[in-house]
Formats: sequence, C-alpha cells, structure tokens
Amino acid sequence: MSQARLSPGVLPGRLDPEHMAANFCDVAPPLDRHEALVAADRCYFCHDAPCITACPTSIDIPLFIRQISTDTPDAAAMTIFHANILGGMCARVCPTENLCEGACVREMAEGKPVEIGALQRYATDGLMAQEGHPFIRAETTGKRIAVIGAGPAGLAAAHRLAAKGHDVTIFEARPKSGGLNEYGIASYKSVDNFAQAEVEWLMGIGGITVQHGQALGQQITLETLQADYDAVFLGMGLSGVNALRTTGEDRDHVTDAVSFIRDLRQASDLTTLPVGRDVVVIGGGMTAVDAAVQAKLLGAENVSIVYRRGQDRMGASRHEQDHATASGVRLICNAAPVAIHGNGAVAEIEFCYTANGPDGLTMTDDRFRLKADQVFRAIGQRLDGTPDAMQLEGGKIAITGAGRTSVDGVWAGGDCAAGGDDLTVTAVAEGRDAAEDIDAHLTGRPVSIPG
Ligand SMILES: Cc1cc2nc3c(=O)[nH]c(=O)nc-3n(C[C@H](O)[C@H](O)[C@H](O)COP(=O)(O)OP(=O)(O)OC[C@H]3O[C@@H](n4cnc5c(N)ncnc54)[C@H](O)[C@@H]3O)c2cc1C
Ligand code: SF4
Repeated sequence: MSQARLSPGVLPGRLDPEHMAANFCDVAPPLDRHEALVAADRCYFCHDAPCITACPTSIDIPLFIRQISTDTPDAAAMTIFHANILGGMCARVCPTENLCEGACVREMAEGKPVEIGALQRYATDGLMAQEGHPFIRAETTGKRIAVIGAGPAGLAAAHRLAAKGHDVTIFEARPKSGGLNEYGIASYKSVDNFAQAEVEWLMGIGGITVQHGQALGQQITLETLQADYDAVFLGMGLSGVNALRTTGEDRDHVTDAVSFIRDLRQASDLTTLPVGRDVVVIGGGMTAVDAAVQAKLLGAENVSIVYRRGQDRMGASRHEQDHATASGVRLICNAAPVAIHGNGAVAEIEFCYTANGPDGLTMTDDRFRLKADQVFRAIGQRLDGTPDAMQLEGGKIAITGAGRTSVDGVWAGGDCAAGGDDLTVTAVAEGRDAAEDIDAHLTGRPVSIPG
C-alpha cells in the first residue's frame, strides 16, 4: 500500500461495506444454460469466420458455439482451451468489441454481435468447475525448461511445454502467480479470486513447479538458467512505470495507477483502502479507465481522466470509455499536465490544452486547473531489468518468429516482447507459440498451433 501520509481528502471507508460489495460485484454476470443456448443460436457458423481471424489465439469460435448450441459445453470448452488455456480469464477481460465481437458479421449487419465472450465464459466456467484437469501430459522428454514470470505469457508457455512432456520451472518475483491477472485486472472483471483458481486449475496438468520470490537479475541470472536448463522463456511483462516528468510530481498522493490497482486487488477489505474526494487520472489506456472507475466505486466524489490527445486516440476501447462515463468519470481530452500544486500533498493540477498540428502534439498557452487530492499516473509501463545480452526494439525484447530472442536458447513473449499489443490474450498466444517453437527446436516435432 502507498506509504504517503493520509491527508484530509484521502480516506478509507468512504462507503459502507454493503455499498462497496455491490459496487465491486461481477460487471458481466455469467449466462445460464437457457441464455447461452439463445445466444449461441444467433451465430451463422460462418465458413471464413472473421471472428477467428480477429482472435489472437485463433479459437475456432463457430465450432465452440455450435458445440454449445448442441448442448455439449464441455466439448466447447476443450475447443477453447486447446487454443487458449487461459480462455476463462480471456472470456472476462478481452476487449471483445475490438477483437472477435468487433469482427462478427452480426455486428456488421445489425450492430449487435454474437456474445462470444459470454459464451466462452459459459463453456469454460462449466468445465473448470469439474474435478481434475482435462489435459493429459505426453510421455516425459527429460528436457527442462525455465520460465520467467507466472503471468499469462509464462503460464501459457508452461502449460503447453508441460503438456508436451517437458519439465517446467517457473521463476516468479512476486508471492503469487497470475501476473496482471492477479495484480492488475479490474476487480469487477475477475471476481471470486478467479485468477488464483485459474492458476491452480492450469497447474493440474502436472510437470510445472513455481518458485515464488525468485527474480531474474536478483536471485537468479540468465547465465545460470542457460547452464541448468535446455531452454529459457522470458515472460516478465513490464514492471516499470513511466514518470510524468512534471513539476510537483513528488507531492504526496501522486502515485502510479498500477500500484493503486495492485493494492486494491490485494485488499481483503476494500473499506480500508484510502481514496480521495477529487481524483485525477492522467492517461488514456485501460489502466487509466480501471483506476478511475475503481476510485469512483470506492467512493471518490469527482473523478476525471485527462488525456493529452483526442478521444479517438485513447488506448482504452470505446466500450471501456463508455463504461467510465457511465460510472460517473469525466473524460477531458487534448490536455497535458504542466504542474502539480500543493503544500506537501497535491491540491491542484495545472493543465494546458494541446493541439495536433504538422509538428505533432504541441502545448498551447490555454491553461486550466483541476482540484485534486489524489492523482494517478497511467501513462504506460516499461521493461525493467533486461539481461545485458538481450537486443531490444522500442524498449522491449527484440524477437523474431515465435519469440526467438537474440540470445541462443532464449525465447520471450507477452508484454516484455516487442511487437504485441499488450493484452492478456496476446500474451497467451505468444507464450503458447514460443512453447511450440521451443518444443520443435528441442525435439524436432512439428509445431501444432492452435491445439
Ligand atoms: C491495470 C491494468 C489493467 C489491464 N486490463 C486488461 C484487460 O482488461 N484486458 C486485457 O486484455 N489486458 C489488460 N491489461 C493488459 C494485460 O494485463 C497484460 O497485457 C498481460 O497481463 C501481459 O501478460 P505477461 O505475462 O506478458 O505479463 P504480466 O501479466 O505482467 O506477468 C509478468 C510476470 O512476471 C513477473 N516478473 C516480472 N519481472 C520478473 C523478474 N525479473 N523475474 C521473475 N519474475 C518477474 C511479474 O511479477 C509477473 O507475475 C491490463 C494491464 C494493466 C496494467
Ligand atoms: S462472425 Fe459472428 S456469426 Fe460468424 S461465426 Fe463468428 S460469431 Fe458466428
């Protein structure tokens, strides 16, 4: 939790426990059997289904929807899990409006797509609630693989490698597995400790051990891993956060949004979490929206997101933006912070309007101030602590093909690798594909993606 002193405006328990619990309940409750059958009935089972192409893990969506419509949801779940072992979490957090549902022909024709995400959740939840793990490991190969990071990329890689008979050790810096599924995703998207339940279920394949509190660059080095293992997969995400570089950034209650969300996700009692009365979030992506909406749900009175470009350039999808405004968050676009004012703790932020011209984004002289007792920076994350030998591209680990890095025997995927779009589902796809490539490299077996 933030070490900043409490100020009169930043207080825990702004709402009573009942109100708080209602605010943080499941944002998209699951479909029941009847609702699922009705939703599945809307699918045209397109031959060249654009929804499959739009899914980074290429799930055979018409097939799994047909399996639901024939009332075989467990078969549907297996279709999903063969392509995406974290299909349960992706059903909850994927920005489907930009991916499968955005490409659905019924969205194009009628403005109402087949509810692919909800159907995916219906199928995967059903199978995951049953005893045991549905995949069986291949005969052991005797090969040992080290995976750095137990986030979506690392977990997807580990599961695929274990399924192929390799022995996998995951080295994870934090005390819990799950990566941002556990520490980042908004609470109302993943309720009832789903991230931990999913990790436990995934580990049911066998052949994977996780060593927590083991960070590459601290307790372990790449050289030792290369010597001790047949291959290494790096899935350490982006653990650094970008600074605003604005005067007054060191004032109390100016923190990064990711830490705020992490504290919130780990809080056993949300009424103990301090939140301001006037909260300002700087940024335009999913993290900005999640911090702003959750501050509002904790009881902040006025919450604004301020973004330096136009609304159409925001990283958060239109659906996320609408969710923010429907939750009472104000969006202010084309404005950038110039100074944070206050005596010890933040009291106001000064912004200038921006203009987009031939020379790019410029600051104008038109300024305004917002009252703020709590400020969250949500202007992006960066890679921290890459091994010296690694070639980088745009601040991330450079890769070719299915995650091969510039260092022999070392693969990378997920947010830490160049080229992806920083989504859970992309991290899963990259972890899976790197695992296939590692397996092909070590055994000469053909790659089988997806499933
Ligand atoms: C606040 C927030 C909300 C988001 N919401 C969504 C959403 O709704 N939908 C969506 O699709 N995407 C969302 N994303 C993006 C998504 O969470 C990431 O793209 C995804 O988690 C990336 O997976 P990863 O495995 O590459 O990295 P991570 O999930 O970051 O996992 C990396 C793991 O590596 C560990 N690690 C880091 N450094 C080391 C080290 N040196 N040694 C050992 N272990 C290490 C970390 O502790 C972590 O467990 C969100 C991101 C944020 C920040
Ligand atoms: S595009 Fe839509 S209608 Fe066509 S197969 Fe995919 S989900 Fe079904």
